[in-house]
Amino acid sequence: MALSFDPDTIALPKGHFIGGRYVDGKDGLPMRRPSDAVAYADCPIADAELVDQAVSVAKTALRQSGWSIRRPRERTNAMHRWADLIEAEGETLARLEAVSSTRPIGQLIQGDVAVTAEQIRFFAEFADKEGSDLVPTDDASLGMIMTEPYGVVGAITPWNFPLSMAGWKLGPALAAGNAIVLKPSEMTPFSTLYLAELAIRAGIPSGLINIVLGDGQTTGQAMTGHPDIAKISFTGSTAAGSAIMANIARTGVKPMTLELGGKSPQIVFADADLTLAANAIANSILVNAGQACVAGSRVIVEKSVMEPLVAALLARMAAIRPGPTWDETSSYSPVISERQIARVDTIVQAARQAGAECLTGGRCLEREGYFYAPTLLSNVDQVSPAVTEEIFGPVLTVQCCADEEEALALADHPTYGLAAGLFTRDLNRAICVTRRLQAGTVWVNRYSRSRDHILPTGGYKRSGIGKDLGREAYQANRKSKSVLINLQDQT
Ligand code: NAD
Repeated sequence: MALSFDPDTIALPKGHFIGGRYVDGKDGLPMRRPSDAVAYADCPIADAELVDQAVSVAKTALRQSGWSIRRPRERTNAMHRWADLIEAEGETLARLEAVSSTRPIGQLIQGDVAVTAEQIRFFAEFADKEGSDLVPTDDASLGMIMTEPYGVVGAITPWNFPLSMAGWKLGPALAAGNAIVLKPSEMTPFSTLYLAELAIRAGIPSGLINIVLGDGQTTGQAMTGHPDIAKISFTGSTAAGSAIMANIARTGVKPMTLELGGKSPQIVFADADLTLAANAIANSILVNAGQACVAGSRVIVEKSVMEPLVAALLARMAAIRPGPTWDETSSYSPVISERQIARVDTIVQAARQAGAECLTGGRCLEREGYFYAPTLLSNVDQVSPAVTEEIFGPVLTVQCCADEEEALALADHPTYGLAAGLFTRDLNRAICVTRRLQAGTVWVNRYSRSRDHILPTGGYKRSGIGKDLGREAYQANRKSKSVLINLQDQT
């Protein structure tokens, strides 16, 4: 199958998607393609009035469709039909995403689209399996913990993996019987719009999934402060997560799930399989040019194996295939925007001036678009912004350690705790170090998610509150009611 395409020929969905149809947007934010910096579209901004309209449509749809009170298997079946359509329309979805985002078309088809369909199916199966509990009480009573959907859930997603981030939010919320108002990133809204369109075509009632476009300040704030949005599920930066918490505190209490930023370490012990470790580490910083929340951007390696590990990493970094996201031969992504590439470079140059050694990269690639060379920095200070800040670019630092204690001390980040990796052949050490790592996910002798969607994801410290994926994500989309019935005759 030939996947490459001409980005100028793609018909983009226009407007917000509310009540099963496209609604024209008013003002727009100019959008540029990361692969060639060409201005190609405007993203409309939903104001508070339009957000209110979307919430009202969602409430009505929930009531009229009976989505949350019908036989749960009907939700499961509709979501399975949706997943089938996602696969059938995978090429269109992938193209809509490749135009605006940093995801290469080949990786989208093999990865993001397939994974999104799988996640929808995974969550669909909870609808008729996960239920309320009878709890032990004395014989004179019947105690129950009943669970119920929230009603209208608000979801806000980032630009780095637009399709799968939308899947993380829509799958559990819908399976659990809710309606949704979702705001994708203003930089990458198109695949999410089409995903919602496919849901309606699959028979999910109109108005249950509504997509409002816009920025955080206007549209995002209107959502988080809306009195009829019963719960917020957010994925994005820690700064935006804090702003959302503040707005929720100001406008009314509601539950929230926050999947936030990270600065994740990978520890390589001297007994590790170095080929395996180097491949895993290189992939974790090269995939999507390091623009992943769990990017393992800090390598901590035992001194005796530092040299061969660095040599293997440099070889992998030299073998990248940069190119536009619409070219099927590209595997190395651009950075999302001009602003973001400037930020990456500023942190790298500051680290160099502070004494870091740049073993490769440290510059923009000489080609159109926002491509930054894979960069490996050694001799970095533990307090350098290159080590402390989430760079969100293809920049890896490597620090040397003498032993396990020093490795753990360097790995510990003062504020982030999203993920961590460790490489060793010693099972006892793997378990002991895993126990001490302060991170919501720990990978041993690998550094990537699998397609086992049952494993929840979420952060320690300021990397987040609550979990996406897994049973926990489904449960987080239902609230519980404790019921106690007196069985004793009082007469
Ligand atoms: P961002 O925080 O700038 O934006 C994320 C989304 O939030 C966008 O839709 C944006 O419009 C919206 N937003 C921004 N400010 C808001 C506000 N005050 N109120 C409501 N909405 C607001 O993040 P980004 O640049 O799009 O994505 C990169 C960040 O996302 C990184 O920090 C990355 O680590 C994080 N991320 C985390 C996970 C995870 O699972 N923990 C997954 C992917 C990305």
